Amino acid sequence: MGLFKKRDYIRITPLAPASSDHLKPIVPDGLWEKCPNCKRVHHKKELSRFKTCSHCNYGFRMSVAERLEVTLDDNSFFELFKDLPFKNHLNFPGYTDKIEQTKKETGLDEAVVTGRGTILGHKTYIGIMDSHFIMGSMSQIVGEKITCLFEEATKEGLPVILFTASGGARMQEGIISLMQMAKISGAVKQHSEAGLLYITVLTDPTTGGVTASFAMQGDIILSEPKALIGFAGRRVIEQTINQTLPDDFQKAEFLLKRGFIDQIIKREELRNRLGLLLMMHQGGEYID
Ligand SMILES: [Zn+2]
Repeated sequence: MGLFKKRDYIRITPLAPASSDHLKPIVPDGLWEKCPNCKRVHHKKELSRFKTCSHCNYGFRMSVAERLEVTLDDNSFFELFKDLPFKNHLNFPGYTDKIEQTKKETGLDEAVVTGRGTILGHKTYIGIMDSHFIMGSMSQIVGEKITCLFEEATKEGLPVILFTASGGARMQEGIISLMQMAKISGAVKQHSEAGLLYITVLTDPTTGGVTASFAMQGDIILSEPKALIGFAGRRVIEQTINQTLPDDFQKAEFLLKRGFIDQIIKREELRNRLGLLLMMHQGGEYID
């Protein structure tokens, strides 16, 4: 037998078809969540009810129900201004169907849920935007709900807390969407002139017309760690000014350093911080 003769191994002919699909591991969809900030992958069951990345503190996107659960006192939420009538003002093709379908998929009536409740026993009006509803975009109904929320809070002499999450204007509503910025800003001003507290909590992502109006009008502007906050998209700015932007541009930490926001609070600590702020600003007279 020659020294270098190839040894004969038993060969097995694969019985499977030519495709190699059968060799790929079967991973059920929706079990894993990749952190968009640090790229670590988490098993969904490992995430706590706060849905934060254990490595970098990034807060994964939350539904309204999840947000209410970790923010308000149990069973204190009372929803207001639900199911306002929808109208496709510009007769935008397919818009009415899209709204109907999104309502079914999300169980929401629009991209914001408004109401009142208590945090650590302190009464507040509250609005929570949900990016699962057409990217939390600003429609006429979103504008109406938030405006009504501020008007009601002004009447009752109570604070407002808004959790923002938005891609900006609702394309299908054109100019009507943009007009909401002015409408809400008017209601915010009346609330402010009545001496009442308005806190915004910027969550990932808060962009476009929402950043350009009510998200930045809070007396106190808080943010979650690593949240994307900005007006125009990064690429648009880079192309316009012909410069490369820093990696952390439009991140909460970048904006904090430049004074756009007041504080970054970990989601796990947010409820207590909001409760403390409400307690510090409730009633009483200013003494010289
Ligand atoms: Zn992370």
